[in-house]
Amino acid sequence: MDRIFLSPPHMSGKEQHYIAEVFESNYIAPLGAFVNRFEENLRQYIGVNHALALSSATAGLHLALRVLGVGAGDYVLASSFTFIGSVNAILYQNAKPIFVDSDESWNISPELLSQAIKEAPIKPKALIITHLYGQVCKLEEIVEICKEEGIYLIEDAAESLGASYKDKQSGSFGDMSVYSFNGNKILTTSGGGMLVSNNEDWIEKSKFLSTQAKEDFLHYEHTEVGYNYRMSNVLAAIGVAQMEVLDKRVNRRREIFKCYQKELSSIEEIIFMPEISGSRGNRWLTTLCLKKTNPQDIMDALENENIESRPLWKPMHMQPLFKDAMVIEDGTSQRLFETGICLPSGSSMTDEDVMRVCTLIKRVLL
Ligand SMILES: *Cc1c(COP(=O)(O)O)cnc(C)c1O
Repeated sequence: MDRIFLSPPHMSGKEQHYIAEVFESNYIAPLGAFVNRFEENLRQYIGVNHALALSSATAGLHLALRVLGVGAGDYVLASSFTFIGSVNAILYQNAKPIFVDSDESWNISPELLSQAIKEAPIKPKALIITHLYGQVCKLEEIVEICKEEGIYLIEDAAESLGASYKDKQSGSFGDMSVYSFNGNKILTTSGGGMLVSNNEDWIEKSKFLSTQAKEDFLHYEHTEVGYNYRMSNVLAAIGVAQMEVLDKRVNRRREIFKCYQKELSSIEEIIFMPEISGSRGNRWLTTLCLKKTNPQDIMDALENENIESRPLWKPMHMQPLFKDAMVIEDGTSQRLFETGICLPSGSSMTDEDVMRVCTLIKRVLL
């Protein structure tokens, strides 16, 4: 049997056509018309004023922190239940993370967030929230808290492209937000990211920093440290083709989730990741946790049949890298990590693939 991957790339068929256009124009290196097109298409889809195509979402988060003035000794609040790419940039800036645990939504708890702000040694400058596995956070409460406290909100929408809350796209609520086009995400350019904001100055400054901070001279002149973070025109051509099928990809991932739910939700010990009221997640990955069975039993049973599955992200406050970091937690994300699984969820999966996975899970649990 062919291997079923967790979330493999799913091409639309138009990518090579656009790449051929890039080759015909010879704009291989590095910027060109497709970078502008990709930015414009994503910007319009999300409903924000400005977008900047980058080499990764991690680079986008680094630029966001830098542009928002986060530096050495500053504190940055962040969801603890996330992938490391969400928070590495805090360390790049020599700032200090304060990790905040999840609530019943699996995403960051607004209540614990307020507590973290109260207990922080000095006022944190920014908050990075992750819309985990494509389901959006309690955005209304979080936006309100950030506004009241004067803390910048950065949305890590790496996993949630196409997800919405009250008909507004994830990534359009923050001061700055990032998306990822890494190989396992809902859309991929093989590797890449996008930084968006309604603030033109911040995006212009990010563009400057992402291209080695070259001052406006014909000779190369530099007054501050920059980075090489821009996306290449070849990869942007893939991105333009991928954006054309985003709605289809979201719908298919949601269908796959519904299929798992229909087959498995009668099993008492299974709890799927919820979708908060007023929101529409992209169900990037179908994830669930188990009340009594060890998730390893399911992962082993699937691996024996050449099917990839994974544990949930290990919370940042449990990572050796962050053993000394401040954390406000009540055991929620630790419990989810210890009892949870990510199931194969690629939009190219067939219904038969999903049924194959379900049959194996039932064999373990029933
Ligand atoms: C994938 C991911 C990132 C990193 O994205 P890159 O484009 O690979 O840098 C950051 N945060 C989250 C939550 C992710 O899932």
